[in-house]
Amino acid sequence: MTTPRFSPTDVTVVFFLGGPGSGKGTQSANLVSSYGFVHLSAGDLLRAEQERTGSQYGDMIREYIREGKIVPMEVTVALLSNAMADSLASSPPPAGTKARFLIDGFPRKLDQAHFFEDTVCPSELVLFLDCPEDVMEARLLKRGETSGRADDNAESIRKRFRTFVETSMPVVEYFRKKDRVVEVRADIPIEEVFAKVQAGIEARNIHRR
Ligand code: UDP
Ligand code: MG
Repeated sequence: MTTPRFSPTDVTVVFFLGGPGSGKGTQSANLVSSYGFVHLSAGDLLRAEQERTGSQYGDMIREYIREGKIVPMEVTVALLSNAMADSLASSPPPAGTKARFLIDGFPRKLDQAHFFEDTVCPSELVLFLDCPEDVMEARLLKRGETSGRADDNAESIRKRFRTFVETSMPVVEYFRKKDRVVEVRADIPIEEVFAKVQAGIEARNIHRR
């Protein structure tokens, strides 16, 4: 048995899942301002690593992201774990309170979930945004007009949807069986989604931990 790097007595980890374009980034910003979460997007961390001078993973990450595939978990988990450590060192939570991390777009595969919970920190809750593919596709194509993201095009989007259904939904099912999922429909106005997200967070007392 390995001991996780961080203890749930010191930090609260919430995983944030949902298909590409379901609105995780938007709702993450709301959660940061309302509850003081530290927002860590696995995709953003991977894109930053891809651009980092001297990274040995840049080309590999670029290829995986364009193909909508899951980057080998050791890379992603190390980026997340180090980002948590950096945050705790540079802006520690007030004495007597726990740091809250919102891990956006992760774990996208069951082995990542187990590896993270065994080596980094067990999670408290999974927030899941449920959105129809046609709505997500329209949002992503719109975002692609300005995002500059290499995967916001019709072909990459199709691959990302497939990965989500085949590989990431089993993560949601796994946590659902453990009754650790708050599921919210995401094809309604942003404020209404957030109201439901808030209700889920507060029903589970995440905001008081
Ligand atoms: N990705 C990955 N592992 C992760 C998270 C993301 O390999 O744990 C890669 C994957 O190729 C994914 C891409 O990064 O399609 C973009 O992820 P992001 O979360 O930014 O996309 P979103 O779902 O927010 O549109
Ligand atoms: Mg995102």
